[in-house]
Amino acid sequence: MGSAQGRSIRVPLVVGNWKMFKTSAEGAAFVHELIESIGPLGDREVMVAPPFTGLFEAVRAARGSRVSVAAQDVFWEREGAYTGEVSAEMLADLGVAAVIIGHSERRRDFQETDEWVAHKVRAVLDSGLLPIMCVGETADQREAGSTRDVLGSQVPTGLAEVRSENAALVTIAYEPVWAIGTGKTATPEMAQEAIAFVRGQVARTLGAEAGDAVRILYGGSVGPDNIDELMNQPDIDGVLVGGASLQLAPFSRIVHFEKQ
Ligand code: PEP
Repeated sequence: MGSAQGRSIRVPLVVGNWKMFKTSAEGAAFVHELIESIGPLGDREVMVAPPFTGLFEAVRAARGSRVSVAAQDVFWEREGAYTGEVSAEMLADLGVAAVIIGHSERRRDFQETDEWVAHKVRAVLDSGLLPIMCVGETADQREAGSTRDVLGSQVPTGLAEVRSENAALVTIAYEPVWAIGTGKTATPEMAQEAIAFVRGQVARTLGAEAGDAVRILYGGSVGPDNIDELMNQPDIDGVLVGGASLQLAPFSRIVHFEKQ
């Protein structure tokens, strides 16, 4: 896999997943502070993902800046009798740029399947937004030695409905479930190994060009202390950050990662 070659075209991406935290006013205030703290960083992209209720104000606060806004979920139909759901078109209409899909909390707590993930990835691409598709193994699966089986199933199934012309627009977040919100981080080497494997699965599913072009993030207890090491791995193109994205100081340090 030509990681080093592909790397030059994969712009690093830092995404803050706020989960079910922050009112819309708190989110907008955070975005304003974040924009100030980012300054002129031109070689990376920064996104925040507020709850649905915070999207409108976050988009407004981010307008004209280097920060863009992602949603944390979506439904795959355009419109219809789906009480409580929100479509990709509705998110695009709001000015949202990307959507997190298949986060492990949704898989675990809301029984999302790989097939649902595939429908959502397709719907998001069809609406001109960027999907951030989450994959990752549980602690039991890692202990049983089945990490590659899990990733080797989640990646191709989740990408099954992607048309080749859209392949490069996909972002994947490798998030080992045992590392999310636990303070346990995969070592940079473990993250690199899994992400290189995921990249191979992307290439098998969507072709070698897509394997080179698709950005793959690491997520799971990322913080100021491990960000630089993670970002210096050849296949890690960015990070998806939960807890540490809720406060400006740690998130700003993560955004200012240093890469040799
Ligand atoms: C996440 O929510 O995707 C995540 C990685 O959370 P945390 O950084 O808190 O582990």
